[in-house]
Amino acid sequence: MVQQVSTGTIQDQNDLVEALRSGLDGQVLTADHAEYDEARTPFFPVKIGKPVAVERPKHADDVARVVDAARRTGLPLIVRSGAHHAAAHSTGDGLLIDLRSLNNLDIDVAGQTAWVGAGLTAREVAWALAPHGLAVGFGDTGSVGIGGLTLGGGIGFLSRLHGMTIDNVLAAEIVTADGRVHTIDHEQEPDLFWAIRGGGGNYGVVTKFRYRLARVPQVYGGTLILPATPATIARLAQVCAEADDALTVIPTVMPAPPMPFIPAEIQGQMVIMAVVCYAGDSGQAEEALRPLREIATPVMDLVQPMPYAALMDEELPFRGHPMAIRNMFLDHIDESVGATILEGLDRSDSWLPLVHFRVLGGAISRVAPDATAYAHRKSPIMVFVARPLEDDELAARQWTEELATALYQGYNGAYVNFLGPHDGDRIEAAYPGETLARLRRVKASYDPTNLFRNNDNIRPA
Ligand SMILES: Cc1cc2nc3c(=O)[nH]c(=O)nc-3n(C[C@H](O)[C@H](O)[C@H](O)COP(=O)(O)OP(=O)(O)OC[C@H]3O[C@@H](n4cnc5c(N)ncnc54)[C@H](O)[C@@H]3O)c2cc1C
Repeated sequence: MVQQVSTGTIQDQNDLVEALRSGLDGQVLTADHAEYDEARTPFFPVKIGKPVAVERPKHADDVARVVDAARRTGLPLIVRSGAHHAAAHSTGDGLLIDLRSLNNLDIDVAGQTAWVGAGLTAREVAWALAPHGLAVGFGDTGSVGIGGLTLGGGIGFLSRLHGMTIDNVLAAEIVTADGRVHTIDHEQEPDLFWAIRGGGGNYGVVTKFRYRLARVPQVYGGTLILPATPATIARLAQVCAEADDALTVIPTVMPAPPMPFIPAEIQGQMVIMAVVCYAGDSGQAEEALRPLREIATPVMDLVQPMPYAALMDEELPFRGHPMAIRNMFLDHIDESVGATILEGLDRSDSWLPLVHFRVLGGAISRVAPDATAYAHRKSPIMVFVARPLEDDELAARQWTEELATALYQGYNGAYVNFLGPHDGDRIEAAYPGETLARLRRVKASYDPTNLFRNNDNIRPA
């Protein structure tokens, strides 16, 4: 039974904080606490809110008490997992639930499933599963929170082989706007279960996910840096499209960034920084990787056998630099698209302009577009154009939009997890047609007053 915080007599925020402190098993931090600033600061600090309090729940009932308090007081409710969303939805001025305290992991090794606390990061989960030779596919970066990543879809190194993250969610525990705790799956509240697989944080606070685990004892992975020309970009896209589902390459065309493993003489050169993951039979790995290595003489080749989790350890130097970002789906990347990418990058005077693309297909495309709230199953390539906002915000926005327009191939789609700070009007692109209509109907059933709105917001029907 959820014990509710009595906010009816609360006169001011101090009373509210005291009520939360006495009602919660977890911590409640205010501005005088040493960890308050870290908790309210997103990975991309395009804004930093001043929450009345940061709550660190111990369990779903704690979350329910904060949800009740927000509903009764009218204070905005902010939900934070890994704080990586580019629009900084993880910060704000109301009650901020910091889910990182929900970090339990309960692995059923024989059954190849796990209940995973929604406050963990991709890296933490990957390393916890590594000793068992098991994995859940999240994204390409270890510090991303599994909360936001899973709710938006989750596309990463294992998606072509084992499906998107949402395709491996078997059940979830969620606290809805009325403060109720539900356990949902394909049979129990299937509409809500459908909506949280792609519909983001619009439906409640997910406190844990149950994932199907894949057997991934070892991968051939690491960074492969190739020279960037229209021909190498086009050939890379072709190799990725023709590859076995076990091979995924996540390339970014950019000036080689200042990272310790990149020699100083290469830093700043326009390259394709490709992170490679081959998760198939190790006996076939060299053969599977050969077409990649034949695209051009690599500038650097660090691809080697490693635990899948080790791929989560490397990070590009984005933290702390808010980005202008524009994402979409393409049909093809040929030499003319490669030339457009390079011309666009050449036109930018930023220190970190980039064009990132992913060849999708495989298991992603074998799921029906209406089976989850991620509807772009048939789109073969996802791309985003980005550059830091800090050097010149207006120039960054203009450059990003111009290059995205030059790359546009007629499909007005967007991947919700890569929406940025200027994408408030792109919800129809993220959720085309009937997907948005259904999401709005489910929203009306579970959150008719739009309590969960600090996100890529789906308004109730
Ligand atoms: C460096 C970097 C690399 C990335 N790589 C990939 C990638 O390879 N593949 C990919 O698919 N995405 C990738 N992303 C995008 C990432 O999936 C999204 O930014 C995602 O929203 C991050 O989740 P989070 O929990 O870290 O962020 P947060 O900012 O904490 O949360 C994002 C949104 O989800 C909500 N939310 C989070 N957890 C919950 C929860 N448990 N219940 C309810 N609502 C919740 C928040 O309120 C917020 O609206 C990357 C992002 C970055 C910055």
